[in-house]
This record gives sequence, structure tokens and C-alpha cells, in this order.
Amino acid sequence: MAKPLDPARLGEFGLIEALRHRARVSGHAWAEAIGDDAAILRPRKDWELALTADALIEGVHFRWETTDPRSLAHKTLAVNLSDLAAMGAKPRGFLLSLALPPIAVPQRLDGFVAGLLGAARRFACPLVGGDIVSSPAWMLSVTAVGELPRGTAMLRRGARPGDRVMLTGQVGGSALGLALLEAGAGREPAARVFVRRHLKPEPRLEAGEKLRRWGIARAALDVSDGVAQDLGQLARASGAGAEIEISRLPKPRGFASACHKLGLDPDDLALAGGEDFELLFAVPQKAPEARVFSKRLGCPVTEIGRIRSGRGVSLVRNGEPVNLARHGFDHFKPDASSTDK
Ligand code: ADP
Ligand code: MG
Repeated sequence: MAKPLDPARLGEFGLIEALRHRARVSGHAWAEAIGDDAAILRPRKDWELALTADALIEGVHFRWETTDPRSLAHKTLAVNLSDLAAMGAKPRGFLLSLALPPIAVPQRLDGFVAGLLGAARRFACPLVGGDIVSSPAWMLSVTAVGELPRGTAMLRRGARPGDRVMLTGQVGGSALGLALLEAGAGREPAARVFVRRHLKPEPRLEAGEKLRRWGIARAALDVSDGVAQDLGQLARASGAGAEIEISRLPKPRGFASACHKLGLDPDDLALAGGEDFELLFAVPQKAPEARVFSKRLGCPVTEIGRIRSGRGVSLVRNGEPVNLARHGFDHFKPDASSTDK
């Protein structure tokens, strides 16, 4: 076993050297990785690069009381890879900006790095560079690079009125996991799947790439701020509105009863709960049934609504308009969207 990564003992350069040693970038995509002034990527001919960045800040996006270093590391990378998945890109590598308190606990840093490099291997997305700075709180910022054939990226714009809206997996689970953690109930056996969904989300990389290769989606994005909000983004980018059939929202098993125990409305959580990192996409009316998508993408897919002309997102239940106020929402006009916390 290598010694834990103690920033006080190693200093910035010792830490970088330890990262370089542990990351061991190989393969021919990277001509240079950790160590020089910049990393050098050799993109394939006729392919494009997709770049995305997301940061997690202690006290804003996570608290040590409700997470652990390995889960946090997984999530730091996963939220970025989810953005690549939504474009249909294949991850190639990532940069890590690490802001550490001067007295960062070595076990935390060690667990974080082990978790991060483990996730990097699993997603075939190596750590190729970054920065280390001192800061009053932990801040973890990843910039990820993906690759895709020229002109094939799935964008948010491009959906048309009448298109059907599809969703991978289930929604609400991550928000429920967070609620359970905050209620101090995160360790109960029934809570485990939801807590896991919150702490260790799985980016839909395979489904995203398969969908991009299929070429059937007119628009796509990943669900990070809640289905209603994010469908609003897709619709707005497409110059249209949208409608969600609430009764169709796919929820995890045991979701409703766990919500009720906490006094939460399952439909609200499924509509507005964030961080599920599922893919939401619009397909033409004549596209096949959702189960054909499930089969081809290798994950559950549910049809949850339609693109409509107009603006904003409306909710229906069994085809009947729903009073938004009952769900605690005034409207889903995307231009009234909250700022990213
Ligand atoms: P510079 O001062 O030229 O920006 P640094 O001393 O910050 O260089 O970094 C030296 C090398 O170490 C660079 O290749 C950089 O990408 C890499 N590096 C620094 N911090 C990290 C990190 N957190 N993760 C991976 N590589 C890092
Ligand atoms: Mg630097």
C-alpha cells in the first residue's frame, strides 16, 4: 500500500508527482498528459471534441457529513461525463482542479484520489492534467473532453412540435436519497438504493453513444435539474413548448412509500428532483415505441410527453391539464429557471 496523500508532507509538486504516478495515462490518444505545461490530445481525423466543466463546492454542492471521499470523487467525474453522454460523445480524458483547505485530512484526499482514478478507469477516461490550489473549503472542478464524429452531436435544439419525449431510467431517486440523508435516515436498508443514486450517479454513456449513432433523436440533454426544468430547456432551445404526462413518469421501486414516510409528494419529486442524470430526448412522431428504444439503448426508456408549439412546460394527468399550483410550481417557463446553485 502506498502512503496516504498528505498534502502537508508532499507539497504541491509532490502531490502532482503522486497523481501522475497513480494516473498512469496510456494509449495513443494522449501525446502528453500530467507533467508538462499542458496536455496534448490527438483527435481522430473527422472527429470533433466536446468539452464540458462542472464544479462541486463543499457547503454548496456537498457536505462531508452526508458523503464520503470515494463517492464524491465518482460524482465529480460522473456529472461531467453525463454531459458528454447527452451529446453522444465518447469520453477521452479530464482535467481536475483541486482546491484543498490547508489542513485537508490525508485520508479524505487519498480516498478521493483513489475513487477518482477508479472511476476514470471504469469510464475509460484518464486524468490528464489539472491544478492544485489552497482554499478555505474543498472545491473539485473537472473539465472533461469527449470525442464524436463531426457534425453528429445531439443538441438541445432541434425538437419540433409533435415530437415524442423519451426518458431513460427513472427519476426522483436522487432527490429522495438526498432527503433521506438530510433526515438522518440514510443508513436504513430501504434508503440504500436512493442514497446510492444520489451519491454515485451513473452517467448514461453507452445509451448516449448508441442514441447518437442511431441518429433518431432530434434533441437531447441530461436531467440534472429535474425533468420539468430540463425539458423546459430543451423545448426553449428548440423554440417550442412541451407537455409531461405525470402518470407516466418512471419512478424507482419503493419510491412512493419512502416519499410518503418523509411527507414528500412522489410526483413533485419525480418532476422537480435534480441529479438523476438520465437522458431526455425528443424523437419524431413516427419513431418506434419506447420498448424498442430500451432494447437498442440497453436501458429502460419511457415515453413521458410531447413537444408542443408555444412556450413553457405544461403538466397533464391522463390527458387532463393539471393545476400546477397543486404541485407547488407556478410555471415551468424556462426563462424563469433558477440559477445553478
Ligand atoms: P503550471 O504552473 O505550468 O500551470 P502546475 O505546476 O500547475 O503547472 O502543474 C504541473 C503539471 O501537473 C501540469 O501538467 C498539470 O496539468 C499537472 N497537474 C497539476 N495539478 C493536477 C491535478 N490536480 N490533477 C492532475 N494533474 C495536475
Ligand atoms: Mg498551475
